[in-house]
Amino acid sequence: MQTFTLAKQIMSTDLFTVLKEQTVSEAAHIMATEKLSCIIVVDQHQEPVGIVTERDLPQILNKVISNEINPSEAISNHMSFPVMTAPEEIKITEALMITVGLKIRHLPITTKDNKLTGILTQTDLVRSYVTEIQSQKELIEQCVSERTAELEALNKKLETLSMEDPLMMIGNRRAMEINLNFADAVAHRHKESYAIALLDIDHFKRYNDHYGHQKGDEALREVAQILKSAIRKSDQLYRYGGEEILLLMPKTGRQEALTITRRATQAVQDKKIEHSETDLKVLTTSAGIATNRERGWQDMITQADKALYQAKSNGRNRVEMEKGS
Ligand code: GH3
Ligand code: MG
Ligand code: MG
Repeated sequence: MQTFTLAKQIMSTDLFTVLKEQTVSEAAHIMATEKLSCIIVVDQHQEPVGIVTERDLPQILNKVISNEINPSEAISNHMSFPVMTAPEEIKITEALMITVGLKIRHLPITTKDNKLTGILTQTDLVRSYVTEIQSQKELIEQCVSERTAELEALNKKLETLSMEDPLMMIGNRRAMEINLNFADAVAHRHKESYAIALLDIDHFKRYNDHYGHQKGDEALREVAQILKSAIRKSDQLYRYGGEEILLLMPKTGRQEALTITRRATQAVQDKKIEHSETDLKVLTTSAGIATNRERGWQDMITQADKALYQAKSNGRNRVEMEKGS
């Protein structure tokens, strides 16, 4: 909520006034004894009609000394007038603008019926303005940090709702589990077969060590995109974890799964992403395949992982089918 300081909140009500009929010497005496920087001249209704400031006083006194002014003359003959005043409801920013614009140091403040009620100096206004700016800055900072916290919480929520891995731009683990459950249920109901392949980038640790983590990330994204364009529209890719990807092939038998997966791994090799730390000098992948056979997908993943392990020990850049299928 935006708040503005008003003149009446900071004005000084410790007022010294003289009636316009009072004499020059009376006014000068009050200013000298009270050490005032100005005195407001008012009429009998307490309405300000003029002002004498510490800048005017020496000139007036000079003229008194040189007999140009009679000290018993009314001060109204020698005051500055008209005097600029402002209502007590004025915002200090506006009051400050008036004092700066008119080059005045004192601003008498009046009530609605124009009675003198207080006075503001430019110094008071500047000080209050700085305080106001400071507190508004703090208010803004507080708002920003509250909004940031809200956004962070929202992002976290969105992350958990998200189905895509932000790096590889393929399905994430959450999406994988949902879709595997679905594929499993459909296959079971229609007595169909489906297959999964677990793909893993070969010697990826060496790749990271040699080219750096940033390049590693880029390679992961590129591999995912190559695989995406090598598979069929009905197949799905998910980031299983790290540099491992799960390929889900609904309505697919083992031979067809082998063909698709080989095509996918071959596509990665054909892209010739440089990997100087391997025999082939290009990035390759290995994969292990499993098909459903009266068992859940969790068990299929275990079998696919074993087949993948086999592909690794058989020399990498190859695809192996689970044992016994
Ligand atoms: P293998 O051929 O036997 O699979 O060897 P490998 O080096 O690929 O296997 P290992 O499991 O030893 O290393 C996997 C590497 O993948 C290590 C890890 O830093 C890297 N990795 C996993 N996730 C990310 C990622 O998000 N970004 C990057 N840049 N690297 C990742
Ligand atoms: Mg791995
Ligand atoms: Mg690997």
